[in-house]
Amino acid sequence: CGIVGYVGPQSALEVVMAGLKRLEYRGYDSAGVAVLADGGLATAKRAGKLVALEKELTERPLPTGPTGLGHTRWATHGAPTDANAHPHLDNAGRVAVVHNGIIENFAALRAELEERGHQLASETDTEVVSHLLAEEFSSCADLAESMRLVCRRLEGAFTLVAVHADQPDVVVGARRNSPLVVGVGEGEYFLASDVAAFIAHTRDAIELGQDQVVELRRGGVTVTGFDGRPADVRSYHVDWDASA
Ligand code: GLU
Repeated sequence: CGIVGYVGPQSALEVVMAGLKRLEYRGYDSAGVAVLADGGLATAKRAGKLVALEKELTERPLPTGPTGLGHTRWATHGAPTDANAHPHLDNAGRVAVVHNGIIENFAALRAELEERGHQLASETDTEVVSHLLAEEFSSCADLAESMRLVCRRLEGAFTLVAVHADQPDVVVGARRNSPLVVGVGEGEYFLASDVAAFIAHTRDAIELGQDQVVELRRGGVTVTGFDGRPADVRSYHVDWDASA
């Protein structure tokens, strides 16, 4: 139901948790986060309110790192359990994905993945994406390109945000029939389903168009279509009062 991504000099976990709190008003049944740190990927996720996730993070703190993502879930496929909460990973635990929306053709993709030996750990429509990204990444070693290739195979409505432990300074997002906005700071970038998530940090934003993929690095943002062609970037300034 809500998505936040971050890359920059701040603690990604703190930025992401604060962003998720700003999106709480939308309603949700589970929450989770992932951060890239020390060459690996660390995640925490819990059914219930953000306080349940906060408690988990107090009991089992994640390492601090500059790259991360978070999610609040409104379950459509699979009960609101810890296992079905996002982020979802691949079998090697190197890719983390969060998703808002519905992947209509997930059953066929899941059957295909299982035939190739993947073991899926949840009942969600989302988890096929982490496994497909891992497969693509193993041949191209580029998360944005992997996302473009996977998105071309997906049907339905989706906002996706992903990270890969082999590209520790990159966050990738994609959208079709579901919103995703980029926040542009100084040497830091945000991704969110709603500008409310990052307005405390920046009011400079880029609205992603239909069927586009964005790659965030500390040095900048690249936007392309699912076909890989460079896309026109629509920048704007958020001038409404965020405290209202
Ligand atoms: N369809 C996904 C799920 O059930 C995402 C739901 C959402 O938009 O939060 O896990």
